[in-house]
Amino acid sequence: MDYTLSEQEKQMQQDLAAFCRAHIAPRAKELDQSSREASTVLIRENLGMLAEGSWLSAGHEGDSIDLIKVYLAGEELAKACPATFLSARASTFLCAGALRLFGTAGQKQRHVPGLMQADAVGALAYSEEQAGSDLGALRARAWREGDTWVLSGVKDVVVNAPMADVLLVLAYITPAAGPEGGMGLFIIEKGAPGLSVGTPVETMGLRGVPIAPVKMNNCPASGLLGGEPGHGYEQIMRLLELGTVGVAAMCVGIGSACMECSTRHAKSRMAFGRQIGKFQDVGFKLADMFTFNDLGRMLALRAAQALNTGEQGAGVMAACAKLFTSEAVTRIAGWGMQIFAGHGYLAGSDMERLYRDARFGEICEGTSEMQRSLIARNELDRFLLA
Ligand SMILES: Cc1cc2nc3c(=O)[nH]c(=O)nc-3n(C[C@H](O)[C@H](O)[C@H](O)COP(=O)(O)OP(=O)(O)OC[C@H]3O[C@@H](n4cnc5c(N)ncnc54)[C@H](O)[C@@H]3O)c2cc1C
Repeated sequence: MDYTLSEQEKQMQQDLAAFCRAHIAPRAKELDQSSREASTVLIRENLGMLAEGSWLSAGHEGDSIDLIKVYLAGEELAKACPATFLSARASTFLCAGALRLFGTAGQKQRHVPGLMQADAVGALAYSEEQAGSDLGALRARAWREGDTWVLSGVKDVVVNAPMADVLLVLAYITPAAGPEGGMGLFIIEKGAPGLSVGTPVETMGLRGVPIAPVKMNNCPASGLLGGEPGHGYEQIMRLLELGTVGVAAMCVGIGSACMECSTRHAKSRMAFGRQIGKFQDVGFKLADMFTFNDLGRMLALRAAQALNTGEQGAGVMAACAKLFTSEAVTRIAGWGMQIFAGHGYLAGSDMERLYRDARFGEICEGTSEMQRSLIARNELDRFLLA
Protein backbone atom coordinates (compact mmCIF):
# COMPACT_ATOMS: atom_id res chain seq x y z
CA MET A 1 0.00 0.00 0.00
CA ASP A 2 1.00 3.61 -0.49
CA TYR A 3 1.18 5.15 2.95
CA THR A 4 3.22 8.19 2.01
CA LEU A 5 1.84 11.03 4.08
CA SER A 6 0.61 14.17 2.33
CA GLU A 7 2.27 17.52 3.08
CA GLN A 8 -0.87 18.52 4.99
CA GLU A 9 -0.73 15.38 7.14
CA LYS A 10 2.98 15.87 7.87
CA GLN A 11 2.37 19.51 8.80
CA MET A 12 -0.53 18.58 11.07
CA GLN A 13 1.65 16.02 12.86
CA GLN A 14 4.55 18.47 13.27
CA ASP A 15 2.27 21.24 14.56
CA LEU A 16 0.56 18.95 17.05
CA ALA A 17 3.92 17.56 18.21
CA ALA A 18 5.10 21.12 18.92
CA PHE A 19 1.86 21.94 20.74
CA CYS A 20 2.08 18.80 22.86
CA ARG A 21 5.74 19.42 23.73
CA ALA A 22 4.86 22.92 24.91
CA HIS A 23 1.54 22.34 26.68
CA ILE A 24 0.74 18.67 27.34
CA ALA A 25 3.99 16.76 27.98
CA PRO A 26 5.17 19.04 30.82
CA ARG A 27 2.03 18.12 32.80
CA ALA A 28 2.20 14.32 32.29
CA LYS A 29 4.15 13.56 35.45
CA GLU A 30 1.99 15.82 37.62
CA LEU A 31 -1.12 14.19 36.18
CA ASP A 32 0.22 10.74 37.02
CA GLN A 33 0.98 11.69 40.59
CA SER A 34 -2.13 13.74 41.38
CA SER A 35 -5.10 12.71 43.45
CA ARG A 36 -8.18 11.64 41.50
CA GLU A 37 -9.86 15.03 42.12
CA ALA A 38 -6.79 17.00 41.04
CA SER A 39 -6.22 14.87 37.96
CA THR A 40 -9.80 15.43 36.81
CA VAL A 41 -9.17 19.19 36.90
CA LEU A 42 -5.86 18.79 35.02
CA ILE A 43 -7.38 16.52 32.38
CA ARG A 44 -10.26 18.93 31.78
CA GLU A 45 -7.74 21.74 31.34
CA ASN A 46 -5.78 19.59 28.87
CA LEU A 47 -8.94 18.81 26.91
CA GLY A 48 -9.76 22.53 26.86
CA MET A 49 -6.29 23.43 25.52
CA LEU A 50 -6.51 20.72 22.86
CA ALA A 51 -9.96 21.94 21.78
CA GLU A 52 -8.74 25.53 21.63
CA GLY A 53 -6.00 24.46 19.24
CA SER A 54 -8.62 22.46 17.24
CA TRP A 55 -6.65 19.30 18.00
CA LEU A 56 -9.51 17.32 19.53
CA SER A 57 -11.26 17.23 16.18
CA ALA A 58 -8.23 16.10 14.12
CA GLY A 59 -9.52 13.56 11.59
CA HIS A 60 -13.18 14.26 12.33
CA GLU A 61 -14.92 16.06 9.49
CA GLY A 62 -18.67 16.21 9.21
CA ASP A 63 -19.99 12.70 9.65
CA SER A 64 -16.81 11.03 8.46
CA ILE A 65 -13.68 10.01 10.31
CA ASP A 66 -10.27 9.99 8.61
CA LEU A 67 -8.36 7.31 10.49
CA ILE A 68 -4.97 8.31 9.09
CA LYS A 69 -5.34 11.72 10.75
CA VAL A 70 -6.82 10.14 13.87
CA TYR A 71 -3.72 7.91 14.00
CA LEU A 72 -1.20 10.71 13.46
CA ALA A 73 -2.80 12.97 16.05
CA GLY A 74 -3.18 10.06 18.49
CA GLU A 75 0.48 9.06 18.26
CA GLU A 76 1.66 12.59 19.05
CA LEU A 77 -0.76 13.08 21.93
CA ALA A 78 -0.04 9.65 23.45
CA LYS A 79 3.69 10.30 23.18
CA ALA A 80 3.25 13.49 25.20
CA CYS A 81 0.79 12.11 27.75
CA PRO A 82 -0.91 8.71 27.40
CA ALA A 83 -3.49 9.57 30.09
CA THR A 84 -4.62 12.70 28.28
CA PHE A 85 -4.79 10.70 25.06
CA LEU A 86 -7.04 8.04 26.64
CA SER A 87 -9.42 10.57 28.10
CA ALA A 88 -9.58 12.68 24.92
CA ARG A 89 -10.16 9.59 22.82
CA ALA A 90 -13.00 8.30 25.03
CA SER A 91 -14.78 11.62 24.62
CA THR A 92 -14.13 12.48 20.99
CA PHE A 93 -13.68 9.12 19.27
CA LEU A 94 -15.57 6.54 21.30
CA CYS A 95 -18.47 8.79 22.35
CA ALA A 96 -18.66 11.57 19.73
CA GLY A 97 -17.40 9.17 17.04
CA ALA A 98 -20.23 6.71 17.76
CA LEU A 99 -22.72 9.58 17.64
CA ARG A 100 -21.27 10.74 14.31
CA LEU A 101 -21.30 7.28 12.77
CA PHE A 102 -24.61 5.93 14.08
CA GLY A 103 -26.60 8.79 15.63
CA THR A 104 -29.70 10.46 14.23
CA ALA A 105 -29.34 14.04 12.93
CA GLY A 106 -30.87 15.34 16.17
CA GLN A 107 -28.54 13.26 18.38
CA LYS A 108 -25.47 14.50 16.50
CA GLN A 109 -26.60 18.09 16.61
CA ARG A 110 -27.29 17.92 20.34
CA HIS A 111 -24.02 16.32 21.46
CA VAL A 112 -21.19 16.30 18.91
CA PRO A 113 -20.26 20.04 18.78
CA GLY A 114 -20.02 20.31 22.58
CA LEU A 115 -17.85 17.17 22.81
CA MET A 116 -15.48 18.33 20.07
CA GLN A 117 -15.11 21.75 21.72
CA ALA A 118 -14.56 20.17 25.17
CA ASP A 119 -17.58 22.06 26.54
CA ALA A 120 -18.84 18.57 27.40
CA VAL A 121 -17.04 15.28 28.12
CA GLY A 122 -18.18 11.91 26.77
CA ALA A 123 -17.74 8.30 27.85
CA LEU A 124 -18.51 4.86 26.47
CA ALA A 125 -19.74 2.19 28.90
CA TYR A 126 -20.03 -1.24 27.37
CA SER A 127 -18.19 -3.82 29.48
CA GLU A 128 -19.25 -5.03 32.93
CA GLU A 129 -17.74 -6.93 35.86
CA GLN A 130 -18.89 -10.25 34.38
CA ALA A 131 -18.75 -9.21 30.74
CA GLY A 132 -15.43 -7.93 29.35
CA SER A 133 -14.34 -9.94 26.33
CA ASP A 134 -17.70 -11.73 26.34
CA LEU A 135 -20.17 -8.91 25.83
CA GLY A 136 -22.96 -11.43 25.31
CA ALA A 137 -22.92 -11.88 29.11
CA LEU A 138 -24.05 -8.29 29.79
CA ARG A 139 -26.58 -7.86 32.56
CA ALA A 140 -27.64 -4.26 31.90
CA ARG A 141 -31.20 -4.11 30.63
CA ALA A 142 -33.24 -1.48 28.78
CA TRP A 143 -36.99 -1.35 28.28
CA ARG A 144 -39.57 1.09 27.04
CA GLU A 145 -41.87 3.09 29.30
CA GLY A 146 -44.11 5.02 26.94
CA ASP A 147 -41.80 6.97 24.63
CA THR A 148 -38.80 6.69 26.95
CA TRP A 149 -36.10 4.02 27.18
CA VAL A 150 -35.25 3.17 30.79
CA LEU A 151 -32.07 1.34 31.92
CA SER A 152 -30.85 -0.61 34.93
CA GLY A 153 -27.38 -2.08 35.34
CA VAL A 154 -23.80 -1.46 36.44
CA LYS A 155 -20.71 -0.69 34.34
CA ASP A 156 -17.65 -1.17 36.51
CA VAL A 157 -14.78 0.61 34.72
CA VAL A 158 -15.62 3.65 32.62
CA VAL A 159 -13.04 6.15 31.40
CA ASN A 160 -14.16 9.76 32.03
CA ALA A 161 -17.17 8.68 34.13
CA PRO A 162 -16.40 11.10 37.02
CA MET A 163 -16.63 14.09 34.67
CA ALA A 164 -18.90 12.78 31.89
CA ASP A 165 -21.77 14.87 30.59
CA VAL A 166 -22.81 12.27 28.01
CA LEU A 167 -22.55 8.49 28.35
CA LEU A 168 -23.22 5.87 25.71
CA VAL A 169 -24.32 2.71 27.51
CA LEU A 170 -24.67 -0.77 26.03
CA ALA A 171 -27.60 -2.82 27.33
CA TYR A 172 -29.77 -5.75 26.33
CA ILE A 173 -33.25 -4.96 25.08
CA THR A 174 -34.17 -8.54 24.16
CA PRO A 175 -31.73 -10.99 25.78
CA ALA A 176 -33.45 -13.93 24.04
CA ALA A 177 -32.35 -12.49 20.68
CA GLY A 178 -28.67 -12.72 21.74
CA PRO A 179 -26.10 -9.92 21.35
CA GLU A 180 -26.62 -9.47 17.62
CA GLY A 181 -30.11 -8.13 17.36
CA GLY A 182 -30.80 -7.97 21.09
CA MET A 183 -28.86 -4.91 22.25
CA GLY A 184 -28.95 -1.14 22.03
CA LEU A 185 -26.53 1.72 22.78
CA PHE A 186 -28.29 4.33 24.86
CA ILE A 187 -27.51 7.99 25.39
CA ILE A 188 -27.62 8.96 29.04
CA GLU A 189 -27.02 12.52 30.12
CA LYS A 190 -25.45 13.75 33.34
CA GLY A 191 -28.05 14.37 36.03
CA ALA A 192 -30.52 11.77 34.69
CA PRO A 193 -32.62 10.37 37.59
CA GLY A 194 -31.26 7.01 38.76
CA LEU A 195 -27.76 7.61 37.34
CA SER A 196 -24.92 7.48 39.85
CA VAL A 197 -21.14 7.51 39.42
CA GLY A 198 -19.17 5.49 41.97
CA THR A 199 -15.86 6.16 43.69
CA PRO A 200 -13.05 6.53 41.12
CA VAL A 201 -10.90 3.40 40.75
CA GLU A 202 -7.11 3.31 41.06
CA THR A 203 -5.16 1.86 38.15
CA MET A 204 -1.63 0.55 37.68
CA GLY A 205 -0.90 2.95 34.81
CA LEU A 206 -2.67 5.80 33.04
CA ARG A 207 -3.29 7.10 36.53
CA GLY A 208 -4.29 10.58 35.41
CA VAL A 209 -7.42 9.29 33.67
CA PRO A 210 -10.59 9.67 35.73
CA ILE A 211 -12.18 6.18 35.77
CA ALA A 212 -15.18 5.08 37.81
CA PRO A 213 -18.09 2.65 37.87
CA VAL A 214 -21.49 3.83 36.71
CA LYS A 215 -24.82 2.58 38.05
CA MET A 216 -28.22 2.99 36.45
CA ASN A 217 -31.31 2.32 38.49
CA ASN A 218 -34.47 2.79 36.41
CA CYS A 219 -32.61 5.56 34.65
CA PRO A 220 -34.29 7.23 31.67
CA ALA A 221 -32.10 7.54 28.58
CA SER A 222 -32.34 10.63 26.44
CA GLY A 223 -32.30 8.40 23.38
CA LEU A 224 -31.34 5.16 21.64
CA LEU A 225 -28.36 5.69 19.34
CA GLY A 226 -29.69 5.76 15.78
CA GLY A 227 -33.25 5.33 17.00
CA GLU A 228 -33.69 1.68 15.98
CA PRO A 229 -33.43 -1.10 18.58
CA GLY A 230 -31.24 -4.16 17.99
CA HIS A 231 -28.08 -2.54 16.57
CA GLY A 232 -26.08 -1.91 19.75
CA TYR A 233 -23.70 -4.87 19.47
CA GLU A 234 -23.03 -4.25 15.79
CA GLN A 235 -22.34 -0.56 16.55
CA ILE A 236 -19.91 -1.40 19.39
CA MET A 237 -18.08 -3.97 17.27
CA ARG A 238 -17.69 -1.52 14.39
CA LEU A 239 -16.55 1.23 16.75
CA LEU A 240 -13.98 -1.04 18.40
CA GLU A 241 -12.75 -2.19 14.99
CA LEU A 242 -12.16 1.42 13.90
CA GLY A 243 -10.83 2.10 17.40
CA THR A 244 -7.95 -0.36 16.97
CA VAL A 245 -6.19 2.42 15.05
CA GLY A 246 -6.40 4.66 18.12
CA VAL A 247 -5.11 1.95 20.47
CA ALA A 248 -2.24 1.32 18.03
CA ALA A 249 -1.54 5.09 18.01
CA MET A 250 -1.39 5.05 21.82
CA CYS A 251 1.03 2.11 21.80
CA VAL A 252 3.34 3.60 19.16
CA GLY A 253 3.19 6.99 20.90
CA ILE A 254 4.24 5.42 24.21
CA GLY A 255 6.90 3.46 22.31
CA SER A 256 8.30 6.71 20.86
CA ALA A 257 8.35 8.31 24.29
CA CYS A 258 10.26 5.27 25.65
CA MET A 259 12.71 5.55 22.74
CA GLU A 260 13.30 9.23 23.32
CA CYS A 261 13.96 9.06 27.04
CA SER A 262 16.04 5.86 26.73
CA THR A 263 18.21 7.40 24.02
CA ARG A 264 18.76 10.50 26.16
CA HIS A 265 19.71 8.28 29.11
CA ALA A 266 22.02 6.14 26.96
CA LYS A 267 23.87 9.30 25.93
CA SER A 268 24.12 10.89 29.35
CA ARG A 269 24.70 7.94 31.69
CA MET A 270 28.34 6.96 32.07
CA ALA A 271 29.70 3.56 33.15
CA PHE A 272 33.25 2.25 32.95
CA GLY A 273 34.26 5.65 31.55
CA ARG A 274 31.89 5.51 28.55
CA GLN A 275 28.37 6.55 27.62
CA ILE A 276 26.30 3.41 28.21
CA GLY A 277 24.85 3.75 24.67
CA LYS A 278 28.32 2.84 23.38
CA PHE A 279 28.01 -0.65 24.87
CA GLN A 280 26.76 -2.93 22.14
CA ASP A 281 24.02 -4.50 24.28
CA VAL A 282 22.50 -1.11 25.03
CA GLY A 283 22.73 0.00 21.39
CA PHE A 284 21.06 -3.23 20.27
CA LYS A 285 18.16 -2.59 22.65
CA LEU A 286 17.67 0.86 21.15
CA ALA A 287 17.82 -0.67 17.67
CA ASP A 288 15.14 -3.24 18.56
CA MET A 289 12.96 -0.54 20.16
CA PHE A 290 13.15 1.56 17.01
CA THR A 291 12.49 -1.40 14.70
CA PHE A 292 9.47 -2.70 16.64
CA ASN A 293 7.96 0.76 16.90
CA ASP A 294 8.49 1.59 13.25
CA LEU A 295 6.95 -1.69 12.16
CA GLY A 296 3.99 -1.03 14.46
CA ARG A 297 3.49 2.40 12.90
CA MET A 298 3.45 0.84 9.41
CA LEU A 299 0.87 -1.78 10.44
CA ALA A 300 -1.28 0.90 12.04
CA LEU A 301 -1.17 3.16 8.99
CA ARG A 302 -1.92 0.22 6.73
CA ALA A 303 -4.95 -0.65 8.87
CA ALA A 304 -6.07 3.00 8.95
CA GLN A 305 -5.90 3.21 5.18
CA ALA A 306 -7.72 -0.12 4.70
CA LEU A 307 -10.48 0.90 7.12
CA ASN A 308 -10.78 4.34 5.49
CA THR A 309 -11.26 2.82 2.05
CA GLY A 310 -13.31 -0.20 3.19
CA GLU A 311 -10.75 -2.62 1.76
CA GLN A 312 -11.55 -6.32 2.06
CA GLY A 313 -9.77 -7.80 5.06
CA ALA A 314 -9.50 -4.41 6.79
CA GLY A 315 -10.76 -5.92 10.06
CA VAL A 316 -7.92 -8.45 10.11
CA MET A 317 -5.35 -5.75 9.35
CA ALA A 318 -6.79 -3.71 12.22
CA ALA A 319 -6.54 -6.70 14.57
CA CYS A 320 -2.93 -7.34 13.45
CA ALA A 321 -2.04 -3.70 14.11
CA LYS A 322 -3.60 -3.71 17.58
CA LEU A 323 -2.05 -7.07 18.47
CA PHE A 324 1.43 -6.18 17.27
CA THR A 325 1.70 -2.62 18.57
CA SER A 326 0.35 -3.51 22.02
CA GLU A 327 2.72 -6.44 22.48
CA ALA A 328 5.58 -4.44 20.94
CA VAL A 329 5.17 -1.55 23.39
CA THR A 330 5.27 -3.94 26.34
CA ARG A 331 8.65 -5.15 25.07
CA ILE A 332 9.83 -1.65 24.15
CA ALA A 333 9.02 -0.38 27.65
CA GLY A 334 10.83 -3.43 29.08
CA TRP A 335 13.98 -2.66 27.06
CA GLY A 336 13.74 0.99 28.10
CA MET A 337 13.49 -0.03 31.75
CA GLN A 338 16.60 -2.20 31.34
CA ILE A 339 18.55 0.71 29.86
CA PHE A 340 17.52 2.94 32.78
CA ALA A 341 18.05 0.08 35.25
CA GLY A 342 17.73 1.37 38.84
CA HIS A 343 16.96 4.91 37.70
CA GLY A 344 13.95 3.62 35.77
CA TYR A 345 12.63 1.46 38.58
CA LEU A 346 12.41 4.38 41.01
CA ALA A 347 8.87 5.70 41.34
CA GLY A 348 8.44 9.06 39.66
CA SER A 349 10.82 8.50 36.74
CA ASP A 350 9.36 8.95 33.24
CA MET A 351 10.42 5.42 32.35
CA GLU A 352 8.54 3.97 35.31
CA ARG A 353 5.36 5.85 34.31
CA LEU A 354 5.62 4.78 30.67
CA TYR A 355 6.29 1.16 31.69
CA ARG A 356 3.03 1.12 33.68
CA ASP A 357 1.08 2.93 30.95
CA ALA A 358 2.35 0.60 28.21
CA ARG A 359 0.79 -2.54 29.69
CA PHE A 360 -2.77 -1.38 29.05
CA GLY A 361 -2.57 -1.90 25.28
CA GLU A 362 -2.71 -5.69 25.45
CA ILE A 363 -5.76 -5.62 27.73
CA CYS A 364 -8.07 -2.92 26.39
CA GLU A 365 -10.71 -3.07 23.68
CA GLY A 366 -10.14 -6.68 22.70
CA THR A 367 -7.30 -8.45 24.51
CA SER A 368 -4.38 -9.95 22.57
CA GLU A 369 -6.12 -13.34 22.84
CA MET A 370 -9.30 -11.94 21.27
CA GLN A 371 -7.28 -10.34 18.45
CA ARG A 372 -5.46 -13.63 17.80
CA SER A 373 -8.80 -15.48 17.76
CA LEU A 374 -10.20 -13.02 15.21
CA ILE A 375 -7.13 -13.25 12.98
CA ALA A 376 -7.02 -17.06 13.19
CA ARG A 377 -10.76 -17.37 12.45
CA ASN A 378 -10.49 -15.16 9.41
CA GLU A 379 -7.35 -16.77 8.15
CA LEU A 380 -8.92 -20.23 8.51
CA ASP A 381 -11.91 -19.05 6.47
CA ARG A 382 -9.56 -17.77 3.83
CA PHE A 383 -7.89 -21.18 3.58
CA LEU A 384 -11.26 -22.94 3.48
CA LEU A 385 -12.38 -20.75 0.59
CA ALA A 386 -9.20 -21.37 -1.38
C1 LIG B 1 -7.93 1.27 32.65
C2 LIG B 1 -9.16 0.63 32.07
C3 LIG B 1 -10.07 1.42 31.38
C4 LIG B 1 -11.24 0.85 30.85
N1 LIG B 1 -12.15 1.65 30.25
C5 LIG B 1 -13.33 1.15 29.86
C6 LIG B 1 -14.36 2.02 29.34
O1 LIG B 1 -14.18 3.23 29.22
N2 LIG B 1 -15.54 1.45 29.00
C7 LIG B 1 -15.78 0.12 29.12
O2 LIG B 1 -16.88 -0.32 28.80
N3 LIG B 1 -14.83 -0.73 29.59
C8 LIG B 1 -13.61 -0.24 29.97
N4 LIG B 1 -12.64 -1.09 30.48
C9 LIG B 1 -12.88 -2.52 30.53
C10 LIG B 1 -12.15 -3.24 29.40
O3 LIG B 1 -12.89 -3.05 28.22
C11 LIG B 1 -12.00 -4.73 29.75
O4 LIG B 1 -11.07 -4.82 30.82
C12 LIG B 1 -11.48 -5.52 28.58
O5 LIG B 1 -12.47 -5.61 27.59
C13 LIG B 1 -11.10 -6.97 28.97
O6 LIG B 1 -12.13 -7.57 29.67
P1 LIG B 1 -11.89 -8.23 31.11
O7 LIG B 1 -10.96 -7.36 31.86
O8 LIG B 1 -13.23 -8.50 31.71
O9 LIG B 1 -11.16 -9.59 30.80
P2 LIG B 1 -11.84 -11.03 30.57
O10 LIG B 1 -12.79 -10.96 29.45
O11 LIG B 1 -12.32 -11.56 31.88
O12 LIG B 1 -10.59 -11.87 30.12
C14 LIG B 1 -9.67 -12.47 31.05
C15 LIG B 1 -8.66 -13.30 30.26
O13 LIG B 1 -9.32 -14.34 29.54
C16 LIG B 1 -9.02 -14.26 28.17
N5 LIG B 1 -10.16 -14.66 27.34
C17 LIG B 1 -11.47 -14.33 27.51
N6 LIG B 1 -12.21 -14.87 26.53
C18 LIG B 1 -11.37 -15.54 25.71
C19 LIG B 1 -11.52 -16.29 24.50
N7 LIG B 1 -12.70 -16.46 23.92
N8 LIG B 1 -10.41 -16.83 23.95
C20 LIG B 1 -9.19 -16.68 24.52
N9 LIG B 1 -8.98 -15.96 25.66
C21 LIG B 1 -10.04 -15.40 26.23
C22 LIG B 1 -8.67 -12.78 27.94
O14 LIG B 1 -7.94 -12.59 26.76
C23 LIG B 1 -7.92 -12.46 29.21
O15 LIG B 1 -6.60 -12.89 29.09
C24 LIG B 1 -11.47 -0.55 30.99
C25 LIG B 1 -10.52 -1.34 31.64
C26 LIG B 1 -9.39 -0.76 32.19
C27 LIG B 1 -8.41 -1.63 32.93
